[in-house]
Amino acid sequence: MDFNDSPQEAEFRQEARRWLQENAPRFNNQEQTHDVKAYVALAREWQKCKADKGYAAIRWPREEGGLDGTPMQEVIFQDEEAKYPLPVGPLVTIGTQLAVPTIRKHGTAEQIEQFTRPTLHGDTLWCQLFSEPSAGSDLANIRTRAVKDGDDWVINGQKVWTSWAHISDWGILIARTDPSLTKHKGLTYFLVDMRSAGIDVRPIRQISGESEFNEVFFTDLRIPDACRIGAVGEGWKCAMTTLMNERVSVGGESQDLPRVEELIQQVQRSGQHPDRHRIAQMLTQELGLRNFRFRLLTSLSKGETPGPIAAMSKLVYANLLQDLSAMGLDSAGMNGVCATTDPLLKKFQHGYTWSAALRIAGGTDEILRNQIAERVLGMPGEIRVDKDIPFTQCR
Ligand SMILES: Cc1cc2nc3c(=O)[nH]c(=O)nc-3n(C[C@H](O)[C@H](O)[C@H](O)COP(=O)(O)OP(=O)(O)OC[C@H]3O[C@@H](n4cnc5c(N)ncnc54)[C@H](O)[C@@H]3O)c2cc1C
Repeated sequence: MDFNDSPQEAEFRQEARRWLQENAPRFNNQEQTHDVKAYVALAREWQKCKADKGYAAIRWPREEGGLDGTPMQEVIFQDEEAKYPLPVGPLVTIGTQLAVPTIRKHGTAEQIEQFTRPTLHGDTLWCQLFSEPSAGSDLANIRTRAVKDGDDWVINGQKVWTSWAHISDWGILIARTDPSLTKHKGLTYFLVDMRSAGIDVRPIRQISGESEFNEVFFTDLRIPDACRIGAVGEGWKCAMTTLMNERVSVGGESQDLPRVEELIQQVQRSGQHPDRHRIAQMLTQELGLRNFRFRLLTSLSKGETPGPIAAMSKLVYANLLQDLSAMGLDSAGMNGVCATTDPLLKKFQHGYTWSAALRIAGGTDEILRNQIAERVLGMPGEIRVDKDIPFTQCR
């Protein structure tokens, strides 16, 4: 694909390519995907290798571990990185793209100092302790309680769908500190040392046999007040920073997920007559998404939070991934649904199953559409009868 790089961008791409050629092959993840321990160790090492060079936070100032780079350089690096089977994904990005940006925006100087460098270097891995059995789409319905006791907060409650909680070092948590307030107002944001007493992590076994998700139970867990982010009662505001970053960060390219170029390759080798209009439409979406992400990254690099419009990135990408993976599998006939060693078919199979999860994780399609309708297009809001009453009166 022609990237239309400016001369400076072309130079940066060449440097990134050279550096990746020298370093990326040592971190090949292909044989290790089913050995979780090896995957985690490799992911930490790859993150460290990037951080040592400044590639883990290209847009950040050099003195803070970045490269003083531009959003475009970040996209260029991701393009080139995605050509290698590297151990990248939520295991690392929950920390680098969700926890750290939230801490840097709402945390104290000490918290920023304590967590930025170790996270950037892969020494600290994070999980996101937001969802609960009755708080997913309706996240403000959180029932996990935090009660102040001296200099600590005592936490009791349950989280669910917590990716990588079983191997994380720290977690970002939202809990209810004042149930007498309305549901969005009585929440507070904390950082949790996952090695603390009072945390019970129970893996959820998936249909694939893997266990990336967990249920997490808190029984009298004590969190020092120094691990609170933002003011008491400002948890919702801090959580929005996390969620907006989450919606910007998905939709990037990954080596193990198919792209439209590969769909064209698959359809051609299958010898079938493709639906050319549909493929052209998908390519338009893919290119549109790419440009839309540039805009979001530019606004992030100016210190802005992109706002509800960021929801479009994940909404469009997850649906595109599902459609193009389905077309790729269909074109292979029965081979599409059988175990295969063919790398391209494997990608379509992975893309098809992962896209279903992606349409739920970090906000379902329906919730994102509601947000876009109400907060981007200004359409009338859903009826929310429990919005303005104390949480204790919500059912
Ligand atoms: C792969 C994956 C990883 C995840 N990782 C994490 C994690 O690390 N940490 C974490 O905290 N959570 C995580 N989650 C949880 C995720 O955030 C929730 O699953 C998601 O927010 C949806 O919540 P729910 O599952 O409770 O579904 P529900 O909220 O119960 O929704 C069920 C259905 O009802 C629809 N619906 C609900 N309300 C409305 C409405 N108002 N209008 C229209 N339709 C509606 C939804 O769209 C959905 O189809 C993960 C989920 C997945 C799939």
